[in-house]
Amino acid sequence: MNQMREQAEHFGAQIEYDDVVSVDLSGDIKRITTDGGEEYQTRAVVITTGSQYRKLEIPGEREFSGRGVSYCATCDGFFFKNKPIVVVGGGDSAMSDADFLTRFGSSVTLIHRRQGFRASKIMVDRAKANDKISFLLDSVVTRINGDGSGVTSLDVRNTATGQQSNIPANGVFVAIGFTPQTAFFNGQVDLDQDGYILVKGGSTKTSVPGVFAAGDVTDKIYRQAISAAGMGCRAALDAQEYLTSLDNR
Ligand SMILES: Cc1cc2nc3c(=O)[nH]c(=O)nc-3n(C[C@H](O)[C@H](O)[C@H](O)COP(=O)(O)OP(=O)(O)OC[C@H]3O[C@@H](n4cnc5c(N)ncnc54)[C@H](O)[C@@H]3O)c2cc1C
Repeated sequence: MNQMREQAEHFGAQIEYDDVVSVDLSGDIKRITTDGGEEYQTRAVVITTGSQYRKLEIPGEREFSGRGVSYCATCDGFFFKNKPIVVVGGGDSAMSDADFLTRFGSSVTLIHRRQGFRASKIMVDRAKANDKISFLLDSVVTRINGDGSGVTSLDVRNTATGQQSNIPANGVFVAIGFTPQTAFFNGQVDLDQDGYILVKGGSTKTSVPGVFAAGDVTDKIYRQAISAAGMGCRAALDAQEYLTSLDNR
């Protein structure tokens, strides 16, 4: 990461550590205001604010994050070889994570707060056909328990009966969605129904001329560092082309 920063600085990038709190993207000159009170004026903007995974917000989640609690099955599944795994969620990500994690876990239990799933039928059918996956429905995890070695079990409450239970688990994969960091654009860039920035075709151009977007803030499918970095490079090229076209006007 340091090397990437040094390389950017070597080519003239100036890096400021602050939060953007508001933007004005109308007109040829865009204005970016930060929490520290600075206002930046620019002819081109590249948005790479990413997306934040949603948390369960229950006791033990933060404490055992990275020590059994994970938000990325493809990144961390391998660490739970032959261990009991729980996936929390009911969407396509939860189904595909559960399916993927059966390669590693001694068992995979999918816990979902309702009977019905938001996931597509094909994903639910695939998970149900996998006999290494069991389903705990109408259920919510209320506490993640563990010790010095990491997560050991979960407290679970049945939402229909109120009954409490404790199930063993060493890996807990939280798959309850992501929130793209786009709130502060305040409707100035076109977003999709889930709040991700829409880009045109295979480019990084947004609905606003001179404003480009790349990485997870545009991508709810792959969410990988390499694809985000590659798209960031394309955004730089698109921005450069845009600035050149302004200079040639
Ligand atoms: C636990 C975990 C493990 C992962 N492991 C892997 C892996 O092994 N391999 C892989 O390829 N991918 C992995 N990923 C995915 C990878 O991290 C992302 O796809 C990648 O970081 C996306 O890059 P990005 O630049 O689009 O967004 P991010 O890396 O999320 O960066 C967005 C940045 O914007 C900043 N920001 C947001 N809002 C504002 C604001 N208002 N003002 C200023 N700054 C703001 C954020 O603070 C953040 O620094 C993992 C993800 C998670 C959550």
